[in-house]
Amino acid sequence: MPIRSAEQYIESLRNRNLNVYLFGERVEEPVDHPVVRPSINAVAETYRLAEEEPELGAADSTLVDGKVNRFLHVAGSAQDVVTQNRMQRRLGQRTGTCFQRCVGMDAINALYSITFELDEKHGTDHHARFLAFVKEMQAENFVIGGAMTDPKGDRSKAPSQQEDPDLFVRVVERRDDGVVIRGAKMHQTGCINSHWLLVMPTMRLSEADRDYAISCAVPVDHPGISYIYGRQSCDSRALEGGEIDQGNARFGGQEAAIIFDNVFVPNERIFIDGQYEYAAPLVERFTSFHRRSYVCKTGLGDVIIGAAATIADYNGVPKASHVRDKLVEMAHLNETIYGAGIAASHESKPTAAGNYQCDDMLANVCKHNVTRFPYELSRLAQDLAGGLMVTLPSDKEFDSEVTGPVLRKYLKAAPGVSVDNRRRVLRLIENMTLGRNAVGYLTESMHGAGSPQAQRVQIARMMNLEEKKKLAKHLAGVEDESEDEDAL
Ligand code: SF4
Ligand code: FE
Repeated sequence: MPIRSAEQYIESLRNRNLNVYLFGERVEEPVDHPVVRPSINAVAETYRLAEEEPELGAADSTLVDGKVNRFLHVAGSAQDVVTQNRMQRRLGQRTGTCFQRCVGMDAINALYSITFELDEKHGTDHHARFLAFVKEMQAENFVIGGAMTDPKGDRSKAPSQQEDPDLFVRVVERRDDGVVIRGAKMHQTGCINSHWLLVMPTMRLSEADRDYAISCAVPVDHPGISYIYGRQSCDSRALEGGEIDQGNARFGGQEAAIIFDNVFVPNERIFIDGQYEYAAPLVERFTSFHRRSYVCKTGLGDVIIGAAATIADYNGVPKASHVRDKLVEMAHLNETIYGAGIAASHESKPTAAGNYQCDDMLANVCKHNVTRFPYELSRLAQDLAGGLMVTLPSDKEFDSEVTGPVLRKYLKAAPGVSVDNRRRVLRLIENMTLGRNAVGYLTESMHGAGSPQAQRVQIARMMNLEEKKKLAKHLAGVEDESEDEDAL
């Protein structure tokens, strides 16, 4: 039965007997764990969007009959790529966190063209295998998680030069019917909330790294896979009872380390094996898609601008000119991120396989802005929130007969504003700039889809200085650059 609703998605995650570890213990049922559940709710919202706003959340498949969830759709036009971004902003607004499903979407779209080109060169059938996999995912409406970032060990050494050969995921055994893989993938977004993982290499590889050139699909509940949950700032507030102190009690992100302990992958789920020359183009196409996917953070930006404006209202100063000016600055920064991302999508071009690939330069500029602007947006939100955001007593003090009435007396602000609403909005700003969802809004913005330096390397490669110098010299009238004989 294909998954049709958010509720069915949540049920589909039950009873999988996963090896998930959190706080030093195996988690019996992640679906019911109070720290894990908000991250599941965030993915569930991608199903709810497809039902409630199908123009954003669903797409006409070219592989199966009818509509499919847009996160599983192969983009067949530039407009399709643009709509991905619109969907991502909307989901950021609805959840205020990372909804985790874009990694799979971007991996599908990158592998679609790469497997096609690989077959053209090697006469293999990897593209057909990959299409069969995507069709199955679309028909069942599964969540695909990406698995790309290897531990990397000594950063100055290639995978095959590491002291411990398992520091990058590799093939440790080849059989007639498939391969066995071993290794780990670090801080993988939404992996436990997925049904399948798409394993991809993490960087350019050479012939000596042939065994590391593996891209394949594995089911999340494979018994040879374990997950070690990454904790998030203030995550234990979910264990305290009450919801106000959590800031955003319903939604959160998820990252975990994935350990592959001799996992068998059958041939039909292998999309690259040994063709090391495709590692770099795959990483590039995937990161290009994923870097403009970070317009997701503009949805979170909309939430934080709204929170900052609301707290100014509650404090009675919505018309103060410096408050307006800070809100204008926040909107400007947020739309600058969106502008570059959506432009990258609009500039998409067809690949040899027929799907559409976004513009690499603009995608990198989008992500580079994301490594910076959410920090400034957060600074401005904290400026408008005031110090109470971090000195606010706990929910339990407000419930206490001794301290509750005193706090409610002294924390009154603008007339008619409830103290509880005031602290809810302050806690939301705390959640997004210091707490659980600061993981998604700030540090993930910094390092997800590549740290700032990775974008600078790409921008440097594409900025075409020689062409720009020619333009300048032409206008300046520089004609002959041989040394001037008259010069002293
Ligand atoms: Fe999607 Fe943004 Fe989360 Fe990446 S960080 S998975 S682009 S929501
Ligand atoms: Fe991410």
